Amino acid sequence: MCIIIGGFILKTISLIVPCYNEEPTVELFFNTTEKVFKQLNETHKDQYRPDYLFVNDGSADKTLEIMRQLHEKHPDTVHYLSFSRNFGKESALAAGLSNAKGDYIAVMDVDLQDPPELLLQMVDILEDPKQDYEVVGCVQTSRKQNPIRGFLSASFYKIINKMSRVQLKQNVRDYRLMTRKYVDALLELPEYNRFSKGMFSWVGFKTKYLKYEGVPRAAGTSSWSIFQLFEYSLEAVVDFSDVPLKMATLVGGLICFLSIIGLVFVVIRALFFGGSVNGWASLVSIILFLSGVQLFCLGIVGKYIGKIYLETKHRPKFIIAERK
Ligand code: UDP
Ligand code: MG
Repeated sequence: MCIIIGGFILKTISLIVPCYNEEPTVELFFNTTEKVFKQLNETHKDQYRPDYLFVNDGSADKTLEIMRQLHEKHPDTVHYLSFSRNFGKESALAAGLSNAKGDYIAVMDVDLQDPPELLLQMVDILEDPKQDYEVVGCVQTSRKQNPIRGFLSASFYKIINKMSRVQLKQNVRDYRLMTRKYVDALLELPEYNRFSKGMFSWVGFKTKYLKYEGVPRAAGTSSWSIFQLFEYSLEAVVDFSDVPLKMATLVGGLICFLSIIGLVFVVIRALFFGGSVNGWASLVSIILFLSGVQLFCLGIVGKYIGKIYLETKHRPKFIIAERK
């Protein structure tokens, strides 16, 4: 969507902004980002046009109304998609990516935890002809967070990087500026079960990471509980690794092997030393242990089958109730 006006190249930067109950932050985000674009256009010979694409992820508050008002005030630069219900941030990102038309595409949270000022540096990096970066991502340093969350997050990255060929960097946020080429590659991934961080890494391309110090939310509260984060991590492992399935097979095989040794021992003992009713307690413990292992492995297999089930239904990832 490069437009040439009087020798100037006008490039569009689409900003995909998922919003869920973000009444206090939408306008604040818009005003702050507008200032950044003013600065960008003052310092750069090229002219950049923002193309805001807000995605209302089934908010229960006045988020949609604020989006409508912003679109009325700025019909050329502000657009929005509104879901029929809450589909989750991943679906909001998917909707944004498939509807964004810019030359560059950014994904950012509306709560200003992804500082819009970084866009200035990001644009410079992608525009630099000497380096052929297709993506600029962001790594957050020392976000003051609950130590339990910090520990769980560090453990998650260690585990997933051991289990999967796709490598994930800790503290990388979804916030990134991407070229059209990179987004087109992302759009080739049709899966229903989406884990963006893994997909971004899976697609490849030369990526530059910028470091910045984390900031608290501009207003409102985070909608993620520790339990939801745990579930999200579990989804990530199942989406990007088949190691749990292999582990289940391995544990199953090992237990079979040990049981055969046990059986041989029991038969030999019965033949040469006579039977015994002793050992009832240990027998029950073994049965209980093995039932546990079987159920655990079945659970792992079930998780993958569940994913296959969802994929084969070919349901849409989101339903758009209103768009402008
Ligand atoms: N979000 C969304 N759908 C959801 C939950 C969150 O679109 O179901 C949006 C939210 O409005 C925000 C971004 O995703 O723009 C990140 O959410 P949040 O700030 O709650 O997460 P955190 O920053 O704590 O990771
Ligand atoms: Mg946030």
